[in-house]
Amino acid sequence: MLQDKSLIERSIARLRKSLSREPYNLRLCLDSPEEEAVAARLALYIAAATKNNYILKRFADSESKNFSETLRKTPGIQNLNCKIEIGKDLGIIAKPAQDVVTGIINAAFKTPVAIKWTSYLRYAPPDPFWAMINRVVVKGWVILPLDDFERILEEAYEEQILRIAGENELAVGRVSASIDMSLIQDLLRKYAQRPVNITKLSTEGPDPPCMKAILDALKAGENLPHAARFAIATYLLHKGWEVEQIVDLFRTSPDFNEKITRYQVQHIAGQVGGRKEYAVPNCETMNSWGLCPTNLGCGVKNPLQYGRRVAIKKSN
Ligand code: SF4
Repeated sequence: MLQDKSLIERSIARLRKSLSREPYNLRLCLDSPEEEAVAARLALYIAAATKNNYILKRFADSESKNFSETLRKTPGIQNLNCKIEIGKDLGIIAKPAQDVVTGIINAAFKTPVAIKWTSYLRYAPPDPFWAMINRVVVKGWVILPLDDFERILEEAYEEQILRIAGENELAVGRVSASIDMSLIQDLLRKYAQRPVNITKLSTEGPDPPCMKAILDALKAGENLPHAARFAIATYLLHKGWEVEQIVDLFRTSPDFNEKITRYQVQHIAGQVGGRKEYAVPNCETMNSWGLCPTNLGCGVKNPLQYGRRVAIKKSN
């Protein structure tokens, strides 16, 4: 397989399209499903062979978004039971909501799905919107509209891609030894983000554990929930960072979009939109968003007070 030049070219083309977030051409899959499946697997191994976590995560993020687009658009799989079966293959326990509830709850959603709470907790994005407390839960089943169920499938698919890469180190090693990686030099240059020198930019006292955890996750190229992005942007703006420095910080996010990020940070800074500068969320709010690793244990009301408190403690 690794001697097949056209397959390697096809795989690199797939990697290239994924990293640049080009929409997937469904025709490729419909015309030659087997070849496309092999190319997709090889593209994943090439992404893993770069040994760059950011490239691998960006590839997985983009492929999973293409997967959910395909789920929404492919005529043959619009049946709810079909999507539930796809979920089963991804390890998700779900059934049509009418098997669990009837009446008004069912009527409130368009094509509702009931998903077992364990599957929900595992794959729901870490975002306040997805907190289980904001969902209808009946006898251990979380009732979701179809759109949200498709998003859960997307998250599960992304996790599966990363798991496959992790479980196939031998194959990744073979790919790395057999494929001329200089063929993707341009991709490495463009998408392998340089680590951001965070310590150099943070100046006033130590960062609180909550913000440090968010900064560490950003450095590791993790996909952060909106609440975490909002919290770190408000915090750094109040510490005197420029909008452009914060935009640069987010470059490591697998779903980074420069234009949107700049607009959002400017919005938080009060430079566009309603011209309202947002405050740093207080500790109670951070905790309710699941972003306080100490469970309100720092003895401050707002993360901004942490650095000063540590400095005062040291001087006593
Ligand atoms: S108590 Fe406040 S400052 Fe400390 S980690 Fe939690 S949210 Fe951050």
